Amino acid sequence: MFLKVSLYISLVIFLIALIYKVSTWFRYKIGIGAAEISTSTRFFSALKGIVSTIFSVKILTLLKAFVLDVLLQFRILREDFLRWIMHIFIYGGFMLLLLMHALDKYVTIVIWKNYYSTINPFMFLRDLFGALVIVGVLIAIYRRFILKVPRLFSNAMDIYAILIVAVIMLSGIFLEATKMVAYSDYKRMVDEYSGLNDPQELKSLEAYWVKEFGVVSPNLTGPFDEKVLQKGKELHESSCESCHARPQWAFTGYGAAKILSPIGLWIDRARLPSVLWYVHILACFVGLAYLPFSKMFHIFASSVSLLANGVIGKEKLSPANRATLQAMELDACTHCGTCSLRCSVIMAFEELMNMNIFPSEKMASLKALASSKASGKELSPEALRRIQEGVYLCSNCYRCTVVCPAGINLQDLWFSVRETLLQRGYPEFLVLSPLSFYRGLMKEETVLKDYEKPLIQAREAIAAQCDLMKKKEKALPLTPANRALQSGLNLSAQAKTFSVCFGCQTCTTVCPVVGNYENPQEALGLLPHQIMHAAGLGLRDLAFGSNMLWDCLTCYQCQEQCPQGVHVTDVLYELKNLAVKQVREKTQAPMERE
Ligand code: SF4
Ligand code: SF4
Ligand code: SF4
Ligand code: SF4
Repeated sequence: MFLKVSLYISLVIFLIALIYKVSTWFRYKIGIGAAEISTSTRFFSALKGIVSTIFSVKILTLLKAFVLDVLLQFRILREDFLRWIMHIFIYGGFMLLLLMHALDKYVTIVIWKNYYSTINPFMFLRDLFGALVIVGVLIAIYRRFILKVPRLFSNAMDIYAILIVAVIMLSGIFLEATKMVAYSDYKRMVDEYSGLNDPQELKSLEAYWVKEFGVVSPNLTGPFDEKVLQKGKELHESSCESCHARPQWAFTGYGAAKILSPIGLWIDRARLPSVLWYVHILACFVGLAYLPFSKMFHIFASSVSLLANGVIGKEKLSPANRATLQAMELDACTHCGTCSLRCSVIMAFEELMNMNIFPSEKMASLKALASSKASGKELSPEALRRIQEGVYLCSNCYRCTVVCPAGINLQDLWFSVRETLLQRGYPEFLVLSPLSFYRGLMKEETVLKDYEKPLIQAREAIAAQCDLMKKKEKALPLTPANRALQSGLNLSAQAKTFSVCFGCQTCTTVCPVVGNYENPQEALGLLPHQIMHAAGLGLRDLAFGSNMLWDCLTCYQCQEQCPQGVHVTDVLYELKNLAVKQVREKTQAPMERE
């Protein structure tokens, strides 16, 4: 009764939670344009996509992705053999245990009519599958806490996942072990099934089970007479053998029983088998009920992500399906850290100490962002800023996407989130940096007005602080030399080089941005060689206010060609950073206090 009620309660919680979690795939709005697409549109669009895949040749690609990526997990094998072994052992062992042992009444017994959990091969296989999971968990602990794989961070969910699996497996093994040693369990079996009444026969059988099956008897201890054992063996073969394989086949339980046998009588008196049975059953049910909210949910979500991305490939998705896929990918992340290990901008963490620079940690923040938006509670401005900084520093190198074992298109996710955050209304000066090239390349993916909006915002914020940028006419009275700027620039190695500029204009001549305009002076304000002079003179407004500074492509042509070795590009870059720093201090701080 207890078993059934607990099972049904946990199953109901599991199903409700599963439906809730899957519904978030259609409700969470994190990507470009997702806010305008209704949940029902997303649902039916996904349904249409699934049906059209199943009834087309793409089904072959789907099957290939299922076998290679989901079942055999080749993507993990490609990256790390030890991790692949760990995953295969935990995933394979757990699934096989679930089907053969936990769902034996619905699966095993249907396939094998003579199934009985204490006979072979089932008894041996159960222990073998359990041992695989235990070895997998030990490898996971070793990797996380002893080997300390670089950039593999452990959060509460990772520890919960390891703990719940460990509790289920260890309680199962020790349940088996305590049942082997417990005299009451042996006695109950003999009373119920042996049909023996003769005290001598019962004694012989008991002696045989004490010697061969590890039962700890309060009445008998070895060594036993050979004749008694022979008689016990005969009785065992006639009454018990058809239902009980030799215990050594259950090698994990038997090993534990050998260790526990010195306290076997206490185990029986304390009814430890019953206690462990409850612990084992409750741990299984808690694991089941909480599964959709835990890291273990990736078993479903990663499989869906691998299948979906396997079929999609380079295909362009509809905005509705893109929004659904990206919401689902947040659940597919296993927090394995592979992306962080390969990320090419991690060195920025040393300077900024922002965990959102690590792609694996960014995923956790994006989950928080998506759920906060769905519940109508915005994240704090500081949390948003840190996410924005993390996604904007990404150089779109694609490495994380290539290695992600869950098949998540991370690069596209970063782009979508970045665009959404850029539309918040606060100026983001990084859109004026070369890091936003990718944004330009992906211009088609955004609505044009959405593409330009952040650029205009950032430029306006700069212009608000630099009078010259606001003016059409460039012939302005120069502001007095800014000593702070000069000394600031003088601090950097590259800034020192502009003092040797002799104004040959080579930098301006080779500049592709300058060459792009018929009348560059009018469009750009100061040209590269003039900016070098303005910087050298400490004319801050003049340097910061030049459009050239903000339109520079960082192509390094000027720097490479300069006959004087002036680090022209680096100077421009540094000037830009100084301008952003100054404007950010004046504008962003009040915004963040809002
Ligand atoms: S995004 Fe992919 S590679 Fe990165 S932690 Fe998640 S599953 Fe691992
Ligand atoms: S695409 Fe971005 S997050 Fe991914 S590895 Fe490259 S820099 Fe890192
Ligand atoms: S090429 Fe070099 S020396 Fe010539 S103007 Fe430019 S910075 Fe000065
Ligand atoms: S680095 Fe900038 S200023 Fe220099 S040539 Fe390239 S675009 Fe022009």
